Amino acid sequence: MSGSPAERAILRSLDTHIGEACGVFGVYAPGHPVADLTYLGLYALQHRGQESAGIAVSDGETITVVKDMGLVAQVFDERRLAPLQGHLAIGHVRYSTTGCSSWRNAQPLYRSVAEAGFALGHNGNLTNTAALADDLGMLPGMGVVGDAGDSTTDSDLVAELLAREYAEHPRSDGRDLEVALERVLPRLAGAFSFVLMDEAHLIGVRDPHGFRPLVLGRTEGGFVVASETAALDIVGAHHVRDVEPGEMIVIDASGVRSRRFGDPSPRLCLFEFVYFARPDSELYGQSVHAARQRMGEELARQAPVAADMVMPVPESGIPAAQGFARASGIPYGDGLVKNRYVGRTFIQPSQSLRGRGVRLKLNPLVENIRGKRLVVVDDSIVRGTTTRQVVAMLREAGATEVHFRVSSPPYRWPCFYGMDTGRRSELLAADMSVGEIRGFLGVDSLAYLELDRLLAATGAGPGSFCTACLSGDYPVPVPEIDSKHVLEAEPAARA
Ligand code: AMP
Repeated sequence: MSGSPAERAILRSLDTHIGEACGVFGVYAPGHPVADLTYLGLYALQHRGQESAGIAVSDGETITVVKDMGLVAQVFDERRLAPLQGHLAIGHVRYSTTGCSSWRNAQPLYRSVAEAGFALGHNGNLTNTAALADDLGMLPGMGVVGDAGDSTTDSDLVAELLAREYAEHPRSDGRDLEVALERVLPRLAGAFSFVLMDEAHLIGVRDPHGFRPLVLGRTEGGFVVASETAALDIVGAHHVRDVEPGEMIVIDASGVRSRRFGDPSPRLCLFEFVYFARPDSELYGQSVHAARQRMGEELARQAPVAADMVMPVPESGIPAAQGFARASGIPYGDGLVKNRYVGRTFIQPSQSLRGRGVRLKLNPLVENIRGKRLVVVDDSIVRGTTTRQVVAMLREAGATEVHFRVSSPPYRWPCFYGMDTGRRSELLAADMSVGEIRGFLGVDSLAYLELDRLLAATGAGPGSFCTACLSGDYPVPVPEIDSKHVLEAEPAARA
């Protein structure tokens, strides 16, 4: 990424869009209720994004898009699904950082080009947005010139690039979208798992590093592409295989075709294994739930402690706490009850709301905690907001000792490839040692699982992951803004 003032200005204008985490789904199944299936698939992927939801359906002639802010079940009901008739559909759930929570950024994006049109859903983040915007004649602080108006997400840039390919290279064989993608995809850098459609084709695309998951499934009468295997289960599809890094899959009346657009260099996000993916999904052919239990077992071997009870921070810490209890022999118990109607706390748009969200979400079980030495297990500490309050609640409830165990290494570096964990200055471990974090959280002891042990626990090849958030080792160059070099020079102050 070059650092010209214009590029930096564009990057700043795009900066609020860094950190989209999303779920995508697509189905091609003539004769089946594709909008209903997409609704179910998005429901299964709700954990990947709670800000907006949308579905685009084609009946072979017209593409209809319905999208809105809110959860899948808030956006769609029978009345809104009924008109979505067709044989192919894509869907998207999205969440993002503060400042870009708006209807205009909800997906699928739709673009009409002459007589044709296409829709696109994106999981991930591009890292060369400034260069792409430059190519498109986008001015600093302004929007893309074209149908996208003043919208400035990286997904809009891709839609704009595709629309221009359509316009410049019109075809008569109906393969416009596929051919436009063949030209545009090699120009993109960073993380992208896309679902796309025109009137007749469903297309799934995964970037050459495969940062975000994308799987292909077979269902009665058709095919499904989805962010996670759990979304295949809900529509009764079986997992055929992963969409490979650097692969485009085209599904239409003649079946499934595969195209390579980049050399594969697999770097699946390790944090998908740690936290983001559903435990009932499979990644790299491994059960995520079983991998998380192994992480807990490794943690017990790495950082043993004498205690009366092992308890999780629900729900993300449950499998690792089970593994810790199993390997340590310390009884497993519940110390916190989660309000099952409250979603992930990071969804709250501001730090103060996030703070309040914790108390709303978790309540201590005083009779299980009082007088006990606790091992408290969670999968990660990112900003520290939740963890600090959890520890205070446990002490208030009468715990005599709190030993915190985290089933991943300190989260030190911001993600530029589609994980919404904020800027480096918001990350608790960015400028604190483990000892300082122990003091900040107010725990008796603190241990994080070592990276090698975490990689071994996944059961997948250790070289096939992106570990940037934990190691600072970014497989694709990232924007200079907020990069490690900038922040090493100016460590962020923390209260
Ligand atoms: P905190 O103490 O505020 O850093 O919150 C830690 C909790 O946030 C842990 O329970 C994690 O499972 C959870 N967490 C980790 N990453 C994310 C994310 N990207 N979005 C929402 N929650 C997350």
